[in-house]
Amino acid sequence: MVMDFKEGDIKIKRIQSASSINTFKQCPRKYFYSYVLELPTSDNIYQVRGNIAHSALEHFFSINTNHIDEHNYEKHLKVAMQELLVFHWRAEKERLDKLKLPEDKIQHYFEDTLHMLIAWVDLFCRKIRSAKKSFKEAFAYLTPIAEQHFISRKFGVQGFIDAIEIQDGKTRVMDYKTSSSSELTDEYLLQLSIYTLLYHEKYGKFPDEVGLYLLRHGEKTIKADEKLLKLAEKECLEIHRRTLSDDIEDYPLNPGPLCKWSTGQCDFYNICFKNKKINEF
Ligand code: SF4
Repeated sequence: MVMDFKEGDIKIKRIQSASSINTFKQCPRKYFYSYVLELPTSDNIYQVRGNIAHSALEHFFSINTNHIDEHNYEKHLKVAMQELLVFHWRAEKERLDKLKLPEDKIQHYFEDTLHMLIAWVDLFCRKIRSAKKSFKEAFAYLTPIAEQHFISRKFGVQGFIDAIEIQDGKTRVMDYKTSSSSELTDEYLLQLSIYTLLYHEKYGKFPDEVGLYLLRHGEKTIKADEKLLKLAEKECLEIHRRTLSDDIEDYPLNPGPLCKWSTGQCDFYNICFKNKKINEF
């Protein structure tokens, strides 16, 4: 989204996101190709299965709980999640086929994704048990507000928040992650700080916590406070200041392990290192 307006003291060229800011921090040249030139990027299995897992989780809360047995809900919820995964996996068949991965690799990623989602259902069932309500009441109580788009025109940043949970008078802003990381990395911290800013600007108050469902490892949350808000403000000001230019020379290459790895390479590797022309892209 490219625009050219001034808001307060910030000159905003385009609306940013946690992803665009993290891309710039990783490699300014990659940011230039992705967000200034808007060159197309290719899918990879991690993106596709991440999208599929998000769809399954989002639709999980729309399942009909009327026919689910109060004493056997755990098994029903796991079957429902498996069915949702199969449905959304099939819906993305075209994208999966384009990856041209061997059948056994695709099967491996399907099973790996199922394993993560079932681990999340286990966590959810523990919450149902501790809610001390009937199954149906607990399910409704634990259902979050899903997939909300937030935008701050003041700081020129936006985000799609996966889940806003309001329980026991507390509000948590949560995101689902399928990556293997078990820690709140700097990239995740930046994302959570931006969600804090977006929520704070929209509602005029902090959520109690922001956090992640690291689907392989459980959940991690941190307090949403002034410090997190200031981090987001600082990063937003910095990215706008450093991305006003359309000159490639203002976006240096940052060669490193994310240029090329054992199973793939950056979308722009051939431009950076193999003399491929941008207009051939
Ligand atoms: S190949 Fe490396 S240097 Fe080039 S854009 Fe990608 S990450 Fe940056």
